[in-house]
Amino acid sequence: MKQTSSRTMLDNVHLKYSRQREWLLDLLKEQKTPITIEQLDELVRSRKLSINLSTIYRILDAFLKHDLIEKTFNIQMQSYVIELKHSHHRHYLICLDCQKMIPINHCPMHNIVEEIEKEQNFHVSAHQLEIYGYCSACIKNH
Ligand SMILES: [Zn+2]
Ligand SMILES: [Zn+2]
Repeated sequence: MKQTSSRTMLDNVHLKYSRQREWLLDLLKEQKTPITIEQLDELVRSRKLSINLSTIYRILDAFLKHDLIEKTFNIQMQSYVIELKHSHHRHYLICLDCQKMIPINHCPMHNIVEEIEKEQNFHVSAHQLEIYGYCSACIKNH
């Protein structure tokens, strides 16, 4: 699958290009699952990129405001995790042992959302769903 360049992604949401913004977008693109800001900071340092933590927070704020990334709270890790916004949203299976997050390919909530809207006369604008359990590697220990 062809990926949009980080520069184009910034252009598309009318964010000014900066090397630091590009670096962070590049790092986020490499991730297959959401990561914490601390993990992102570790990546930045291991690649010897010169962005300090407060700048990371500032850039992520701009990314959030411009809809480039999504931030969700991971109950198990007791921490916020971030990921690039996908054209369609994702849900994850979260392993209670190793905390691995495994994306599931479809949203099981669509029918439920429709039902709720009808029954409760409530307009659903967003939802979050995380499924907890044990991954194939950890299941042996249970
Ligand atoms: Zn596991
Ligand atoms: Zn969903």
